[in-house]
Amino acid sequence: MTALTFPLADAARRVSPEERAAILADPGFGQHFTDFMAHTRWTSESGWAEGELIPFGPLSLSPAAAVLHYAQEIFEGMKAFRHADGSVWTFRPEKNAERLQRSARRLALPELSTEDFLASVKALVAADEPWVPAVDGDEASLYLRPFMFASEEFLGVRAAQTVDYYVIASPAGNYFPRGVQPLVVWITDTFARAGAGGTGAAKCGGNYASSLLGKREAAQHGADEVLFLDSESHTAIDELSGMNVFAVTKDGRVETPVLSGSILEGVTRDSILRLAADRGYQVSEERLIAAELLERVASGEIVEMFACGTAAVITPIGEFRSADGTWTVRDGGSGELTLSLREELTGIQYGRVEDRYGWLTRLV
Ligand SMILES: *Cc1c(COP(=O)(O)O)cnc(C)c1O
Repeated sequence: MTALTFPLADAARRVSPEERAAILADPGFGQHFTDFMAHTRWTSESGWAEGELIPFGPLSLSPAAAVLHYAQEIFEGMKAFRHADGSVWTFRPEKNAERLQRSARRLALPELSTEDFLASVKALVAADEPWVPAVDGDEASLYLRPFMFASEEFLGVRAAQTVDYYVIASPAGNYFPRGVQPLVVWITDTFARAGAGGTGAAKCGGNYASSLLGKREAAQHGADEVLFLDSESHTAIDELSGMNVFAVTKDGRVETPVLSGSILEGVTRDSILRLAADRGYQVSEERLIAAELLERVASGEIVEMFACGTAAVITPIGEFRSADGTWTVRDGGSGELTLSLREELTGIQYGRVEDRYGWLTRLV
């Protein structure tokens, strides 16, 4: 089976340079989309069809498409970064390809090979290259969203035999236009985002749907984000709705919840474990009991807490709230290691710091 290519169907369909410049001046996050999208379709009979790059625009989908009823859908999130010499790079894309394959297996969707995944991303960014924000000391990027869903017109419950895969792209400005803002995190004992044996370790829309009410509950308590506990004992920390969580102790340990089966394995999480270990921190992945963690925050044994994911990279946590009280992290969350790891990771991504792990792949 030869690799897919994603040839450009209609290069004429571009917004004007003036309109693009106006959007890139203040792109926000996830509000504007580029000229093109990559697409291929899988059928159980023929496998993946040849790819294509088509103008970004509405999809035509049967109201009986299985995804709309049974949520057979998965996605990825990654970024393209412009370097000072104009070249465009992405960060550890094979990790996203492998994760999409794991998510596909869990949701009974077809796997897309790493080679075809990379081809789709490379072709799209090459065609949409003018949409990759310039480097100007700011943290702007082109956010990439590969996704796959059951498009078969069929209301019976079984794995779909027609599946569509797309990659869309959206210019993203600095996540923190007013400087890094520590998060206030609400710990819910009402809702769980994922259960044992469920889909928590897969990057699927359903996990986000189940997190929304928890997020609303957090907002009602003046918090920015919600922290979910494990669904069985309601005592151990899992993660936020879309970010993994870390703690730093005053004696130099960096801790994060062990991948329990209901936690999404973040590429940022994995990269931080590596960077912290190489700086001489003792890193540990273990079951973290919320009550114990909050006690260690209160006693000052834990000196920094942060959340991480592709969109915001690393975000300090300044305060926890729950039905039982409020816990403030030392210095309100502007921890030294948190900010320095953030600086190193974004430095590698933007080509300001040597890529000593070979984490970057050139796109353009
Ligand atoms: C995507 C995601 C993350 C972060 O993963 P990264 O690969 O670091 O972007 C964490 N938790 C959940 C639930 C996610 O969906």
